[in-house]
Amino acid sequence: MSEVAVPEIPARIASPKIGFVSLGCPKALTDSELILTRLSAEGYETSKTFDGADLVIVNTCGFIDDAVKESLDTIGEALAENGRVIVTGCLGAKAGEQGGNLVKQMHPSVLAVTGPHATQEVMDAVHANLPKPHDPFVDLVPNTFGIAGLKLTPRHYAYLKISEGCNHRCTFCIIPSMRGDLVSRPVGDVLSEAKALFEGGVRELLVISQDTSAYGVDVKYRTGFWDGKPVKTRMLDLVTRLGEIAEPYGAWVRLHYVYPYPSVDEVIPLMATGQVLPYLDVPLQHSHPDVLRRMKRPASGEKNLERIQRWREMCPQLVVRSTFIAGFPGETEAEFEHLLDFIREAQIDRAGCFAYSPVQGAAANDIPGMLPASEREARRARFMEVAEAVSVARLRSRIGATMQVLVDSAPGLGRKGGVGRSYADAPEIDGVVRLLPPEKISKTMKVGEFTRARIVDAQGHDLVAQPI
Ligand code: SF4
Repeated sequence: MSEVAVPEIPARIASPKIGFVSLGCPKALTDSELILTRLSAEGYETSKTFDGADLVIVNTCGFIDDAVKESLDTIGEALAENGRVIVTGCLGAKAGEQGGNLVKQMHPSVLAVTGPHATQEVMDAVHANLPKPHDPFVDLVPNTFGIAGLKLTPRHYAYLKISEGCNHRCTFCIIPSMRGDLVSRPVGDVLSEAKALFEGGVRELLVISQDTSAYGVDVKYRTGFWDGKPVKTRMLDLVTRLGEIAEPYGAWVRLHYVYPYPSVDEVIPLMATGQVLPYLDVPLQHSHPDVLRRMKRPASGEKNLERIQRWREMCPQLVVRSTFIAGFPGETEAEFEHLLDFIREAQIDRAGCFAYSPVQGAAANDIPGMLPASEREARRARFMEVAEAVSVARLRSRIGATMQVLVDSAPGLGRKGGVGRSYADAPEIDGVVRLLPPEKISKTMKVGEFTRARIVDAQGHDLVAQPI
């Protein structure tokens, strides 16, 4: 009897392991997601720890001095614990005091340094230092969201980055020097990614960029295609389509980093009809026209108070979130009080505030009239007192209302209660809705599903609600 040759099955090779740390804003997070998707598709294993990793990638933030320090410390820790480190992200694009690369100056033993939004450069550095595995069992690992790749957020919400970089030159900001000018993603790619995310279970899509209202300016609002139909590369067209794609899934679309240009007026009717969430994250930074001019803010000539009031007339349920800077160089007491009045009159629902802190390389450092640190901090505290009073009053006005809540946490099917968010709360930055145990024994709650709840109390930045 002749022997039959049995093909040898290759032994499963242990996958090279990469420790990954992601610091910074949601835009940096989406860069991390792109890199992790490529690593996973090529068969690398990834972990959040340095333990047993063959090398470590640190995605850094370089926006304010505290973030720079945190990033440099993390790189130092990774070098001490692992020794083989690739650095990417905004800090990687930052120059040191005497020129040259800051990260390389501070940590000369890192394997490679790239700037932000540099997936291919990071992959090249990984391949050079930890060759790509050839394992038939792990090549082409399927991922949850298809073309949208791996996500670092919980499965039920995801950030959708629509553009990279920024054409503005705000005097306190060094982002354009790190991330470059605005580059809008093709509208068809953005919409395909959104569809894949909803199909993969995402129920809240958070649209992000440096300047969402400027989407498409760089390509002169070029017409792209999605689903066989033409779509303009323009915020209104994008948001309209996103609302249509989200609808069959009952999912939310939330807009971040929208500047108060007149064109935003066209998006408000979509909020009034519920096609996109009536929530706008508008980073205003100040209210006084002279301060806005010194900041060189986009839309600084707009009458923001009147604009917000008009938006509220068109869509009374609109929630406005914003961030501000107190104690900007040259800010007078009268200009600061103008800001406090603005918060009261515009009824900003959620406001964050930084005391101005000089960022190395920012043009604002040369503006005369730097206030002492104690005064900048004192103004921030005064701002927060006013902003919190407005916010608490607006939250209290919701008591008695019934709201749809997206469940973020519900141990034991929510029988002992859980935590969720309403349309008024973006993840990570706003408050939450604390869900009480349901009164009906048959009522259950699951992470990533919606529940209706009656608001019974307000506590600090949060609401308390009874699921119904
Ligand atoms: S709009 Fe201004 S603050 Fe925002 S990224 Fe551009 S330059 Fe920086």
